[in-house]
Amino acid sequence: MASIRQRRKRVILSQISTLMTAGAIALTPSTILAQAAAAGFGPDNPFYAPSVLPFQAPPFDRIKDADYQPAIEAGIAQKLAEIQKIADNPAPPTFENTIVAMEKTGQLFDRVMQVFEGVSGANTNPALEAIRKEEAPKQAAMRDAIYLNARLFGRVSKIYEQRHALQLDPESLRLVEMDYQKFVHAGARLSDADKAELKKLNEEEATLTSAFASKLLAATKNAAYATTDKAALAGLSDAQTAVAAQAAANRKAPGWVLSLQNTTQQPILQSLSDRATRQAVFAQSWNRAERGDANDTRATIARLAKLRAQKAKLLGYPNYAAWKLEDQMAHTPEAALKFMDALVPASTAKAEGEAKDIQALINAQGGGFTLEPWDWNFYAEQVRKAKFDLDEAQTRPYFELNNVLHNGVFYAAEKLYGITFKQLHDIPVYNPDVQVYEVFDADGKPLALWYCDYFQRDNKDGGAWMSNFVGQSKLLGTLPAIYNVANFSKPAPGEPALISFSDVTTMFHEFGHALHGMFANTEYPSLSGTEVPRDFVEFPSQFNEHWASYPAVFEHYARHYKTGAPMLAELAAKLEKARTFNHGYMFTELLAAAELDMQWHTLAADAPLKDADTFETEALKKTHLALRTVPPRYRSSYFLHIWGNGYAAGYYAYLWCEMLDDDAFQWFEDHGGLTRTNGDRFRQMVLSRGNTEDPAKMYSAWFGGEPGIGPMLKARGLEAAPVAK
Ligand SMILES: [Zn+2]
Repeated sequence: MASIRQRRKRVILSQISTLMTAGAIALTPSTILAQAAAAGFGPDNPFYAPSVLPFQAPPFDRIKDADYQPAIEAGIAQKLAEIQKIADNPAPPTFENTIVAMEKTGQLFDRVMQVFEGVSGANTNPALEAIRKEEAPKQAAMRDAIYLNARLFGRVSKIYEQRHALQLDPESLRLVEMDYQKFVHAGARLSDADKAELKKLNEEEATLTSAFASKLLAATKNAAYATTDKAALAGLSDAQTAVAAQAAANRKAPGWVLSLQNTTQQPILQSLSDRATRQAVFAQSWNRAERGDANDTRATIARLAKLRAQKAKLLGYPNYAAWKLEDQMAHTPEAALKFMDALVPASTAKAEGEAKDIQALINAQGGGFTLEPWDWNFYAEQVRKAKFDLDEAQTRPYFELNNVLHNGVFYAAEKLYGITFKQLHDIPVYNPDVQVYEVFDADGKPLALWYCDYFQRDNKDGGAWMSNFVGQSKLLGTLPAIYNVANFSKPAPGEPALISFSDVTTMFHEFGHALHGMFANTEYPSLSGTEVPRDFVEFPSQFNEHWASYPAVFEHYARHYKTGAPMLAELAAKLEKARTFNHGYMFTELLAAAELDMQWHTLAADAPLKDADTFETEALKKTHLALRTVPPRYRSSYFLHIWGNGYAAGYYAYLWCEMLDDDAFQWFEDHGGLTRTNGDRFRQMVLSRGNTEDPAKMYSAWFGGEPGIGPMLKARGLEAAPVAK
């Protein structure tokens, strides 16, 4: 799985859980407008009016750091004034004067925020970071002001109640339902007393969430493994030892320090040949946040689980996951649990097989001990070398970045969808590394603008992601301007960028998100493109990854950068085989984490406060994932995704989207593979539709049935276990 991330541009439902936490900030449109005017927001600000460049491309040649903040503040004020006007409209509520009117609000805010998010993520500096910090609570307060506006909710409710009598087209009907649900999710239907109670719970949640994040940060730092005995580090390369020495120097500590990664398993265990050191490093990782000191997170997470359950009850749901999943593709925690439970037998069977291989290797080497989790990476790496000895240096010359882009990524898209690409040199960019392409539809009409910013920089966030500078909407008359960002190593000047196959996969992945944005063909901006549930958003991107290793595409781009020769079949086969190596372990640790997440978030409000360790042990036993050698990818006490990063009751989404993409790719294979007919049908029924239909219905209409786990297990080299009916 490539390291991936997808950023969202507007208010998404997960953020609504933190609504009402910033109520202390006095926010009146007039004060902000006055401040903005004083700060110099006027016609000479590049965000004042829509850009006159093609596709309303951001005028980066005119944008200065100082332009953002006044535009953001004026944007918030303008949006709030527009919303208030809708709420105060003396005319009876109609779809047009309320729901459509809301879609038209906040155009200045979106215009500046989309650019600000892009630049502050990919090309930041202290000035932009300061703006981000200052503006975040104001945006939270803005969302409060919208979703807790009782008068506005009154109008939305009226329309929602009459929705079936209004003879709306399906997309408009969907918009009414989504809008109503957003308000309800935020607590708009509650009495004033319950709203006050919810506000208290939200504030406590925000406090605990941020306490969890800071405790974990400190705990992870403190739990680094330190030694003054160089022999303990046997097996590390000179470079790894130098990093460890530097880490110690940075802490003004003697000897060597091995810093911890956020996961249970530590990549460094792969190299450490001293078993006692491995065990010690693993123990540091496993117990990092359970040391009974100020950074112990166990009481914090137990309280968080409890208060989330209380919040859900107040909002009328049996548990937090039920509240969270209502607008997702899975719809209910039961559906997500059923999906995960079905994966457990095949996954654990594969992991147990891998454990046997490793034990056999330990025995063959005369180890004389039983495999433990801290041994896994060290021996798995030896098994991998023995089985699929793959030297990355051998494959890189076949993956020159520009060639992969044009003859791989673009080629697959052209074959499937008929779209073509032309590089533009006259569109301004925020950094010279950024390239811009105009994308043309099969009939030659302009479709989208696409930016790529592939090389690592010190002022860029880690990972890779996609988002929009401009979103598509027929209502607003806008076509999409989309960007992909990654962190590939930049070659020396004049040298070709030879990337790894994992980087190639990342390019296809992010371009899959880009296609979802480019093909967007919806009326309303809030339903457009990638504005879809979390358990659906990674589907188009992961689906697009499949073409990277599809023979007709692979052969077309995997060519030696000097000679143009295709990759030797033997090497290509190794590459393919190595893809499913160790997947029993990787899949099982993911499943265990996803199950833990769901178990914590399906607690009822009246369940007693849990002891974190006991709960975790029982939850893993109950879900048949208590494997001695395969611990969860994150232990509850350091599971930042669910306690601090908005993935509560949502970690299953990674696996869910994998089911969809493997299943969909199997459909393509069964229907002739890489063809325009298949591509056009997928585009028309899925990629162009955004969130205009329940994704579960959208998927089954396209696929001709419910998604199944068979292709997913096959793709990971797992055997499907017989399913009891
Ligand atoms: Zn993604």
